[in-house]
Amino acid sequence: MMNEHLGPSIIVEIEVFRVPPRWVFVRVETSDGLVGWGEGTLEGHTEAVEGAYKDLVERFIGAQADNIQDIWQTAYRGRFYRGGPVLMSALSGLDIALWDIKGKKLGVPVWQLLGGKVRDRVRVYGWVGGDNPTEVFEAAKVRAQQGFTAVKMNGTDAVAWIDSPSVFNETVTRVKDVRSLGMDVGIDFHGRLHKGMAKQLAKLLEPHQPLFIEEPLLPTQPEEIADLSRSVSTPIALGERLYTRSDFRPYLESRAIDIAQPDVSHCGGISELHRIASLTEMYDVALAPHCPIGPIALAACMQVAITAPNFVIQEMSWKIHYNVSLDPTSDADLHTYMLNPEIFDVKDGHVALLKGPGLGIEMDELKIRDASARYVENHPAWRNPVWRGKDGSLREW
Ligand SMILES: [Mg+2]
Repeated sequence: MMNEHLGPSIIVEIEVFRVPPRWVFVRVETSDGLVGWGEGTLEGHTEAVEGAYKDLVERFIGAQADNIQDIWQTAYRGRFYRGGPVLMSALSGLDIALWDIKGKKLGVPVWQLLGGKVRDRVRVYGWVGGDNPTEVFEAAKVRAQQGFTAVKMNGTDAVAWIDSPSVFNETVTRVKDVRSLGMDVGIDFHGRLHKGMAKQLAKLLEPHQPLFIEEPLLPTQPEEIADLSRSVSTPIALGERLYTRSDFRPYLESRAIDIAQPDVSHCGGISELHRIASLTEMYDVALAPHCPIGPIALAACMQVAITAPNFVIQEMSWKIHYNVSLDPTSDADLHTYMLNPEIFDVKDGHVALLKGPGLGIEMDELKIRDASARYVENHPAWRNPVWRGKDGSLREW
């Protein structure tokens, strides 16, 4: 009712900012002076997403920002080609910004618009180690001091299609060590293993009770992941490389996963994350939104986490190793572009409810504009490494 009195908010500007360490922020402004922020980060494919925004800008300047569902449907279905990481990441950023605008317009947090809260705080986990992890135990102790009760780490370095079983020795020790601190540990296989190796590692880790194993195989293998899921008691998590509800469907129908990990910046924004949460609930699958990226994405994930009954834990990129920037003058991290960084304080393993209108996050626009201009001028966009084995053949990163 309030909305009717307020009148329509017409989109007058959509701006895209590439900022260090590897993020893409979207700023949407409306005719009534509202500003919403979104994040369409697609790690390693920044320019492709920027290109996709050209089409969204062309189509949605002049559209009514209030009609999020219609804009989402038009962006997704209005062109012949749809889905996939590039188009969906661009749409995700726009969708998140529109929810921010709607919440600000109505003066409520987005989670109020999604049905209200079902919890009073949000459990989070941080990362330990890098791609070639050493001193993981010390890193986990730091996480515990920071307030975390759960961490995630990569399972292995590069592994051949079939490799020596000894490549797993170190992994098991690291998991045992961190578990001895009383912390829960998620293990990200990162799609690096093929099934002959993945089933061995899953079995070796099972006695140490990981919180979950993530992307045990590449997301091209739903049936093989379902087989693996039947062979171990550890919860299987996956979803960062799935876009829209449709991509989750085979994983749910084949009973392949126990935890869905949609990434709000890739899956279709807050709109689609909320719908995926509901879909997965029907299959008795938990929700743990993936988020190794920026603060706007984290705030967007939290809005859904607060209202989704099957939510279990939220990834948080604070001090993640990927935040080491290509720009040596920048030490950009989760809080760098925020005016209210305290909203993400971690206490007893949890972050408090976001209370501000919209996403609840206040962005430092001047800093974003300045950092983006310097970054684009002086540095290439972030790329993941390409790994090759001893024989020169390509390995999964
Ligand atoms: Mg992952």
